[in-house]
Amino acid sequence: MKFLSRTLEVKTERGPQFVDITDHVEEAARECGLLNGFAVVFSKHTTAAIRINEAEPHLLRDMEQMLGDVVPAGNDYAHNKYAHALSNNGERPNGHSHCQQLLLGASESVPIVNGRLTFGPWQRLFLVELDHGRDREVVVHLVGE
Ligand code: ZN
Repeated sequence: MKFLSRTLEVKTERGPQFVDITDHVEEAARECGLLNGFAVVFSKHTTAAIRINEAEPHLLRDMEQMLGDVVPAGNDYAHNKYAHALSNNGERPNGHSHCQQLLLGASESVPIVNGRLTFGPWQRLFLVELDHGRDREVVVHLVGE
């Protein structure tokens, strides 16, 4: 059994934003040289998610809009009123970002078969920024033989 862990640094520009990280994950999988196994792709953040979907630009806009429709930034969040009012860490009010992240999730796993990540033809891996643009870390953990 082999494993390799790599942390990708991802710069985001705005929230919500779908950042395609597929090529970086494929590169890590190639370097690891696994024939069979899986890759776990994990966001180390409570306001940035990992999801698999299609990289069609209009669809990405639809999905960004959907996130705002389902969990609007303008709702009344206790997190904004209390946690951010009391903390001095400079974090902007982001109750909606945490709630959107809860719906999407922190990780995806992708099977590796015969040395390749088994994506379908339209599948891409995204870091989904749900707060404002900033530096993010994504852990790619590869396990197999
Ligand atoms: Zn917060």
